[in-house]
Amino acid sequence: MRVLITGGAGFIGSHLADAYLQRGDEVLIIDDLSTGTIENIRHLKNNPHFQYTIDSVHNQPVTAELVDQCDVVVHLAAAVGVKLIVESPVRTIETNVRGTEVVLALANKKQKRVLVASTSEVYGLSTDVPFKEDGNLVMGATTKGRWSYACSKAIDEFLALAYWREKKLPTTIVRLFNTVGPRQTGRYGMVIPTFVRQALAGRPITVYGNGKQTRCFGYVGDVVGALIKLMDHADSVGQVYNIGSTEEISIARLAEKVKELTNSNSEIVFVPYDEAYEEGFEDMPRRVPDTSKIKQLVGFQPKMQLEGILQSVIDYHSGRPSSLDD
Ligand code: UDP
Repeated sequence: MRVLITGGAGFIGSHLADAYLQRGDEVLIIDDLSTGTIENIRHLKNNPHFQYTIDSVHNQPVTAELVDQCDVVVHLAAAVGVKLIVESPVRTIETNVRGTEVVLALANKKQKRVLVASTSEVYGLSTDVPFKEDGNLVMGATTKGRWSYACSKAIDEFLALAYWREKKLPTTIVRLFNTVGPRQTGRYGMVIPTFVRQALAGRPITVYGNGKQTRCFGYVGDVVGALIKLMDHADSVGQVYNIGSTEEISIARLAEKVKELTNSNSEIVFVPYDEAYEEGFEDMPRRVPDTSKIKQLVGFQPKMQLEGILQSVIDYHSGRPSSLDD
């Protein structure tokens, strides 16, 4: 099979490329390197089954040619990272909405199966934990930049489902919960690479808010395995799936764990949200997926627990110069 991965030089995209290549598929990627890096795919550049195009999916003739060449499309190209989103809301909305419009329209022309990556952010301020795919999405005010990400991804979901219902384009949507592992950078705000780099450098570990907010961290290897299984399964068409871990931890406890595992002398400091992001920033107190739907279809069961995940991130960053990610 020939797979086109948009955002293929990103953190998740590059791991997905590795996994498809490993099982003998061919992989084409397109990435504009806005948040992805050549470094993530350097090890694949000489692989005869791998091709990369450095361009934006907004460049329609280029994307059309790639869609033409592939059998299936995994659309991961998107603006990511809460910090980046708060700082660049125009870019977030345009990248997420227009990019998905282009990919779906081109895939529709050639009737190519598409998986669209969405996010757990779409559950917004919902407190109906654990979140189920058919639960209500609770958006915050439009004056708070953060919610532009959730809304842009919700539009992507509507559009992908509309293509299936109206035009019979086979689409599947995944809502990725906090996904972590090697190659993820802290540059766009993600908490685990940020804490690990702070701890390794002996700098203060910055817990935002009171640290009581919780998240569930899924290992990128488990997540890409689930993406491949969903793409292989005909019954995932027209459906939305949560993908993530259900092991819940508070951010303050996470900071302690990172400090312990790195044997760091770093101080743990608490930074108000207004200072960390923007005035009036709203965080979600708990974010836990209900993963029974994907478990039922493809037997999804994350293999890596938090301790192993943290160790893999620590190992990855231990060997890297501090200038690369900070
Ligand atoms: N966070 C933190 N310190 C940091 C970066 C993030 O305390 O240096 C918090 C953030 O406020 C959120 C959680 O860690 O409550 C997860 O943040 P991340 O940006 O990784 O993902 P999110 O769940 O917000 O999409």
